[in-house]
Amino acid sequence: MHRGIYIHIPFCHKKCSYCDFYSIEKVSQIDDFVLLLCKEIALWSQTTDQKFLIDTLFFGGGTPSLLSAAHIKSIFSTLQQYFEFVPNFEWTMECNPGTVSVESLSSYRQIGVNRVSFGVQSFHQHELDFLERIHSPEQAKQAVQFAKDAGFTLISIDLMYALPNQTLESWKETLLQAIELGTTHISAYSLIYEEGTPLYVQYSKGAVVPIDEDIDVQLYDYAHDELTKVGFVQYEVSNYAKNGDLCKHNLKYWNSEEYISFGPSAHGYVQGTRYWNVRALSSYIDKITSGVLPVINKEILTKEQRCFEKAFLGLRSTGISLSDFEEEFGINLLEVIETDVKLWEKEKLIEIHNGILRSTSLGYQLNDAISLKVISILEKVLQTEWVGIEAEMPSLSEYLPLNIIS
Ligand code: SF4
Repeated sequence: MHRGIYIHIPFCHKKCSYCDFYSIEKVSQIDDFVLLLCKEIALWSQTTDQKFLIDTLFFGGGTPSLLSAAHIKSIFSTLQQYFEFVPNFEWTMECNPGTVSVESLSSYRQIGVNRVSFGVQSFHQHELDFLERIHSPEQAKQAVQFAKDAGFTLISIDLMYALPNQTLESWKETLLQAIELGTTHISAYSLIYEEGTPLYVQYSKGAVVPIDEDIDVQLYDYAHDELTKVGFVQYEVSNYAKNGDLCKHNLKYWNSEEYISFGPSAHGYVQGTRYWNVRALSSYIDKITSGVLPVINKEILTKEQRCFEKAFLGLRSTGISLSDFEEEFGINLLEVIETDVKLWEKEKLIEIHNGILRSTSLGYQLNDAISLKVISILEKVLQTEWVGIEAEMPSLSEYLPLNIIS
């Protein structure tokens, strides 16, 4: 079995107003953090005799591009001592466009990083200002060019829509600009008002009013239509890829595959057990310096919970293989949701192709409702309740790939 590795880098130059991922602005602590991270990797590896095979490595955050090539190299050298990397494994690094140069990207590329993901969000300065991003539209365009000059062919761009007062016109301009840059992966996320963020505070006070739901749908539809027109394929609610350049690491989360994670607030899924690291850097430091793993909680997923998650995650991404589902869980999914599936097929929300049941673009839009219906049917079949990802995790966005919206 091939697994992924996720490394959480908890530093940013400045917090963005909407962000609830764990990161702090104390960049002076990066040197010490890298040493501790290497120690965590060594500590974790003492818990198993196996040398796991790794085919994806993902540096997310936070802002991994605040690390120098020397930092990245020392983390990777430590990983190589304890894990076996398959040839040509996918190695992604999240980069903030305001923190890169052609030199820094070239140095990452030389070490072996082969995929970069830029948190661009918008090509309008006033929207970037609203989100409190540190970069300009010009820097975002330049960053993509730097990556190309540094030899990267796998480049992803994150965009954000449904900003307050955003118009279809301004979203069109951002999207078309992104397409023009010629990358083969684009993620388009709808702005979420996450509790605990400065944006949420403004929203609760009524100082910021979310965009009208109809406009949100209009912007989603526009992105889908424009991106698919130029050859992108939607493979998750918010993710589009061209030329088969899907993010293999993120697919591991959505396919319920295993991954090992390191760093504050990271969570992994290994040998059927899910675990979470402490969130605060100070607690992380205390644990590691005392020679203890920073794991705050863990749980073994029951077969029933794995069944719920397989359905839930499959419906929001590349679909559910009906034969694999039956083999793993002994449930003929099509049979148990037959009445609803017929209706959803008629309404073009779901399609079945080569034994894979998957959402259509419209289905992705209504994903929550469809997933909850499927889960409620499965609860009856399995005679147990879905614990629910949101109930057991700090937040849903933390459970799903940590790289999104960075
Ligand atoms: S969105 Fe990205 S750059 Fe902004 S604070 Fe969050 S992790 Fe840092």
